Amino acid sequence: MIVFDLKCRKGHIFEAWFRDSASYSDQVATGKVLCPVCGSRKVEKALMAPNVAISETREVAVSGAEKAGEIRSMLKQMRQHVEDNCDYVGTEFPEEARKIHYGEAEKRGIYGETSDEEAKALEDEGVAVQRIPWLPRENS
Ligand SMILES: [Zn+2]
Repeated sequence: MIVFDLKCRKGHIFEAWFRDSASYSDQVATGKVLCPVCGSRKVEKALMAPNVAISETREVAVSGAEKAGEIRSMLKQMRQHVEDNCDYVGTEFPEEARKIHYGEAEKRGIYGETSDEEAKALEDEGVAVQRIPWLPRENS
C-alpha cells in the first residue's frame, strides 16, 4: 500500500491509500476517488517535496502587522505539517537524503539541519530539498 497526498480542484488536500501507483491512476481516471470535503472527483497529486531540509533559524523581516501575522501562522502550519509527516534526522540530513535519493533507505519525508553548502550540493545532485524558515516554538 502507498499513501498519496491528493488535492481536489478546490484546493482541499487529503490523504488516500492505494495498492500501488497504477491503482491510483486507475481509480482517479474512473472517478472513484472523491474529495472528503466537497465530493469533487477532480483530484490530483498534491505537490510535496519528499525531503525537507531546515537551515538555521533566520529572522524574516516583514512589514505590516497583518501580513506578518499571516506569514507567521503559515510558517507555523508548515512546521507542524513537517513535524507530523517527516522523520527528524538532525545533522544526519545530507547523508540520509542521499540514501533516500539513491534508494538505499526507505523513501519518506525527512527533515533536519544542514549547511547552505550541503543543501546546494544536494540540489546539484538532483536530490529534492526544500529550505524553509523554521520559527522557534512559542512558549505559551
Ligand atoms: Zn474538495
